[in-house]
Amino acid sequence: MHLEPTMKQAVIRRTARKYAEERLAGTAVDMDVTGEFPMDVAREMAGLNYFGLEIPSKYGGAGLDPVSSAIVIEEVSRVCGAMGLCLAVHNGVSAFPVYQFGNEEQKREFLVPLATGEKIGTFCLTEPNAGSDASSLETVAVRDGNHFILNGNKIFVTNGGVSGINLIFCIDNPGEEKKRFSVFIVESERDGLEKGPSEDLMGMRGNPVCPIALNNCRVPMEHQLGKEGEGLRIALSTLSGGRLGIAAQSLGIAQACLDASLKYAKERHQFGQAISDFGAIQAFLANMATRIEAARLLLYRAAGLRSRGVEYTKESAMAKLYASEVAVEAARCGVQIHGGYGFTKAYPIERYYRDAKVCEIYEGTSEVQRLVIARNVLK
Ligand SMILES: Cc1cc2nc3c(=O)[nH]c(=O)nc-3n(C[C@H](O)[C@H](O)[C@H](O)COP(=O)(O)OP(=O)(O)OC[C@H]3O[C@@H](n4cnc5c(N)ncnc54)[C@H](O)[C@@H]3O)c2cc1C
Repeated sequence: MHLEPTMKQAVIRRTARKYAEERLAGTAVDMDVTGEFPMDVAREMAGLNYFGLEIPSKYGGAGLDPVSSAIVIEEVSRVCGAMGLCLAVHNGVSAFPVYQFGNEEQKREFLVPLATGEKIGTFCLTEPNAGSDASSLETVAVRDGNHFILNGNKIFVTNGGVSGINLIFCIDNPGEEKKRFSVFIVESERDGLEKGPSEDLMGMRGNPVCPIALNNCRVPMEHQLGKEGEGLRIALSTLSGGRLGIAAQSLGIAQACLDASLKYAKERHQFGQAISDFGAIQAFLANMATRIEAARLLLYRAAGLRSRGVEYTKESAMAKLYASEVAVEAARCGVQIHGGYGFTKAYPIERYYRDAKVCEIYEGTSEVQRLVIARNVLK
């Protein structure tokens, strides 16, 4: 088993780190303060092919392997969590399922603009009464000739405020005893699709997470992704891959916490010495470094299985569960190392603390990841 990065992966990391440090540090602060999404920065990242990470070049993507894709998301998130979220969702649960389940016509029409970053994508599963239990969703799609008519309410749509293409999960035979789920590709400008205002988030601020309402939204039947009734299978399989993106995002935030804490601990003096000389601070740093490395290995192993086409549902849930908990713990320790300054906006650790928390919630809470893992280990 090879867990060391290849030469190409090392170059991808160096390039992504340089770009993120030079171009995203200011963006991260601005997004957090203003709550606004910088479209110009997104366009710039599209120029680097960061919106089509695993999509083959024939559809306009970068054609990267899953480990390289995780490295890019990790490095962007290390500097700017909100942009890391944009990339993780766009790549992992919007563009990739169109590549995996779409037909050639759908790939030409929707995948190319997604992979090139001309349009930003969303994944709309969650509803007011359907969170962890995705099977209880209430949005309906009713067939009308060559169209489906969609009605319902989606909430917490990452990238929603700036999206051009949305994957909408629905029940396609409302009223019948056995529920059947389908997914539709719906353009933002289609009549009947209405976006609500962005949420005022605790962290990841600047990512326009918003509700999307569907009021008699007519969608051509050719825009159905996969076959009728395949929606839940597509959602679950997509989330397995998407969790690698959230694990990578968590890892980037955790690494940012460690890097900021190492710097601060060497600079800050108390009792006539750097606080990094104290055993208690060293224990924090040692635990953070060890857990981050363990999270990285879990992530790369799961991504490696995905590269080889081997089943990786359990491994991606483990990577997401562990990395998100490591990020929250690293942020907590990081604030502690910064003392009172950690509780102010003078240092970025305060933002990392707020950004980290949601990694334990979206694309399946930690409790849901444990259910997925337990189901697999009990098999
Ligand atoms: C910033 C942000 C961005 C998001 N982006 C998206 C997106 O792009 N697309 C999308 O579809 N959704 C998105 N979500 C929604 C997110 O995936 C859900 O919030 C998450 O799945 C949990 O659902 P819920 O909030 O309804 O919580 P609930 O399901 O109501 O859960 C509440 C609590 O109960 C626990 N719980 C629930 N069921 C069980 C169980 N069986 N066993 C043990 N504990 C359980 C949960 O773990 C949690 O602690 C986003 C959310 C946020 C905050």
